[in-house]
Amino acid sequence: MTEPAAPQHMVTRFAPSPTGRLHVGHGWSALLAMDMARAAGGQFRLRIEDIDGTRSRPEHVAGIVEDLRWLGVAWDGEIVFQSQRLDRYAAALDQLRGLGLLYPCFCTRADIQASLTAPHGPEGPVYPGTCRALSAAERAQRIAAGEAHAWRIDMGKAAARVGTLKWAALSFSEGQRASTGSVRTEIVIDPLAHGDVVLARKDAPASYHLSCTLDDAAMGVTHVLRGDDLRGATDIHRLLQALLDLPSPAYIHHPLLVGPDGRRLAKRDGSIGLAELRAQGMAAERLADDLRAGRFPIGIALASA
Ligand code: GLU
Repeated sequence: MTEPAAPQHMVTRFAPSPTGRLHVGHGWSALLAMDMARAAGGQFRLRIEDIDGTRSRPEHVAGIVEDLRWLGVAWDGEIVFQSQRLDRYAAALDQLRGLGLLYPCFCTRADIQASLTAPHGPEGPVYPGTCRALSAAERAQRIAAGEAHAWRIDMGKAAARVGTLKWAALSFSEGQRASTGSVRTEIVIDPLAHGDVVLARKDAPASYHLSCTLDDAAMGVTHVLRGDDLRGATDIHRLLQALLDLPSPAYIHHPLLVGPDGRRLAKRDGSIGLAELRAQGMAAERLADDLRAGRFPIGIALASA
């Protein structure tokens, strides 16, 4: 007799990078992810993506926590800090290296930009593969000489290893409420469109793609809700899940918000930060209610798809 499958407990998360304070779009995204988990009796987790040593700042971590608390966003369990999980990222890199899927890349940004023929993928120029062609001897010699290098995945080899893969997309309804009842579509990934992406940076022990994929799995995240700008990244995350034998959550990509000038909200626009709205005397409950209802303050609107 087989045991009935345990019902899957929904886990969602919000995963900001502490490179600035949160804006209205972040607050909206966090509220949606929290509400989604709460409505399903599940859990909502907070993860701070703080492995970018040059841009992450402890004062922003404190600011983010303060902004979220003010808005009424409450998470379950301890906050997960990526900076405390570097050993896991290193282990995964070893595993992928062991499969012969990674190579060191010594190129500078300028080298890559100088390659005029570089095609563009969903996230900008696709790496032309210069260092993929280096011999094992040259790689070893340059590493031994202490030359700074990133580690890239050989996407052609990786894609051939995993075959056709799909991720589950849940639709984001105009009602701004994603739920497990939303329409589910299977998206076939196109990893080659991204080229040989970086998995360990010269200046950080892991890239966003690797750390995010590993942490979503380690935290038991079942539903990833995040902005449309990360839709392309999901193909890469799905590929890494297959290579590292990790479960694949469902993904909901919500539209981005644009300001009165039609430009995407960004941390640089201090005027629409949650901290500024708070300083201007805006009531947090009112703002949270408005965001939930899709009413955005001060000329902010959903970007058209
Ligand atoms: N840390 C990323 C950011 O702030 C978000 C990561 C994610 O939601 O997957 O843009």
